[in-house]
Amino acid sequence: MDTAPAPSARAAYRGRFAPTPSGPLHLGSLVTALASYLAARHAGGSWLLRIDDIDGPRCRPEHADTILKQLELHGLHWDETVRYQSRHELDYQAAFEQLHKQGLCYRCICTRAQLAEISPAGIDGPVYPGICRDAAHQQADSAWRFRLPDGRIMLDDQLHGRIERDLVDDIGDFVIRRADGRYGYQLASVVDEQQQGITDLVRGADLIGSSLRQKYLMQHFGIPVPNFLHIPVLLDSKGYKLSKQNHATPINASSAAQNLIRGLDLLGQAPFAADWHGRVDEILMRAVRNWNPALIPKRLNLPG
Ligand SMILES: [Zn+2]
Repeated sequence: MDTAPAPSARAAYRGRFAPTPSGPLHLGSLVTALASYLAARHAGGSWLLRIDDIDGPRCRPEHADTILKQLELHGLHWDETVRYQSRHELDYQAAFEQLHKQGLCYRCICTRAQLAEISPAGIDGPVYPGICRDAAHQQADSAWRFRLPDGRIMLDDQLHGRIERDLVDDIGDFVIRRADGRYGYQLASVVDEQQQGITDLVRGADLIGSSLRQKYLMQHFGIPVPNFLHIPVLLDSKGYKLSKQNHATPINASSAAQNLIRGLDLLGQAPFAADWHGRVDEILMRAVRNWNPALIPKRLNLPG
């Protein structure tokens, strides 16, 4: 965990967009990409791209290629080389081994079905009730969970203000290595943010629970914690999250300028009324100059 220069409080802004290549971008993911891009460029900083492709069969290289093309066609050009999580397993393994040596993780043999039945609901899904904590299981093909202490965790969000949760009651011990040997999203992300020197995280509000877990891990590893801006999740006209899982329509790259205007409008960036027309690069230049996160609405709804 000491391979990259750590960002200091005065480090230049470094943001990133980290899509999972389980399908092409839809309007919801474009809005997140756009917000993180504008925030980084408005601050005169770098905007990096990372493909979060360690989640096995859901992720496909052709989707990653499509996402890169979609971003380019929308003028969202990134800095430096694209980072693919699947090429950094050894880094995640090193972080895992550090936690293992410190006695901070344990094997868990609970099945998803068992947990669904008995786990209390937390901030984003079931909270692990700690069944295997002191069981000292030895099964080689089991998952590993990170052991959280009693206490609370706080996070200051630029849009939502202070968010505070109980580590045990709201979050619960989480998986850092899965039964199939892959590393958990939380652990991998923390290693990535550190190695890429990320100073600012702009992401969907559905990841607030992940941000809290990652902040805890970052503090544990002694990594500087980035600033957080959680963009409200884009809901369809029925109030459901727009996502690949519920088959949100991929964005049509041949109407990139309109997509950008629509995204800016959803993000409350007022100077871009629907009657404004322009080229992709002009729209982005103007949006970068005028970027104001305070204007982002607390709810993002698509009209019915
Ligand atoms: Zn268990």
